[in-house]
Amino acid sequence: MNYVGRFAPSPNGPLHAGSLLAALASWLDARAHGGRWLLRIEDVDRPRCAPGLDRIILRQLSDCALLPDEPPVWQSQRSALYQQALDQLLAHDLAYRCVCSRRQLRSAQGPPGQNRPRHAELIYPGTCRTRAPGASTGAWRLRTDASAPIGWNDRRLGPQQQDVHTQVGDFVLQRADGCFGYQLAVVVDDAAQGISDVVRGEDLCDNTARQILLQRCLGLPTPRYLHTPLVLGANGEKLSKQNGALAIDTSAPLAALNQAAAALGLPAQGGSPGDALYAWVAAWRQRWAPLYNPLP
Ligand code: GLU
Repeated sequence: MNYVGRFAPSPNGPLHAGSLLAALASWLDARAHGGRWLLRIEDVDRPRCAPGLDRIILRQLSDCALLPDEPPVWQSQRSALYQQALDQLLAHDLAYRCVCSRRQLRSAQGPPGQNRPRHAELIYPGTCRTRAPGASTGAWRLRTDASAPIGWNDRRLGPQQQDVHTQVGDFVLQRADGCFGYQLAVVVDDAAQGISDVVRGEDLCDNTARQILLQRCLGLPTPRYLHTPLVLGANGEKLSKQNGALAIDTSAPLAALNQAAAALGLPAQGGSPGDALYAWVAAWRQRWAPLYNPLP
């Protein structure tokens, strides 16, 4: 089996219990399938990444004995690849310039207080689809169409479906400031790195349909997806950098790993982080491997 997994942290905060869980789950799934595990630093959104955090994350991972099989890659060094993909979409008239200002985007959402179903995010109404054909600045958006909804079978959550055109709208591929969008960068990198299996937190599940759509537009393969349970804070909310989740304490890596393992339904382990990981690979095979679907 040619299994290649990855962990792809954004260096906008140190690893917290939630991101460690995603790292551990993807590492265990790769090991349980005799596969390789890669690391990608997702620093494509430069303004939101703090200098030095990439090194801190790599250190936290190695303190937990989560070591990649190849040197990590940094998205900030891969712009040429993203540009190539954007050019390919442009050549097929699948992208267009958007010159809407923030104010215009906000007002397109309707009056303040109006209910917005999906994460309170704007469904872009396609204002610039025909408005700005000659614009030389602005963001690039994907031209979605009203084709069939995108469906996939998540290994943990089961059959999933999303109609990107009506539920998300034409999403951004490259921002007006030149930063490539997360969706485009992830899809290009997952394909370039030969990723067969994406294992990541359930909070990212909502991006999957957009990523599969982009894979289809670019003629790239679709990996398998497994979205892991989230670690909830004391207030019952998901842990995230945005709500101030604490960095894991890597002076006690086993305790941090045991907390993540418990959320994955794996038994507590003693010994060194390496010993614990070894024991969890066996447990993972029993608990999670039956959820494995061969690629079509
Ligand atoms: N960089 C994303 C994050 O840190 C994860 C992307 C992914 O796993 O697809 O939330």
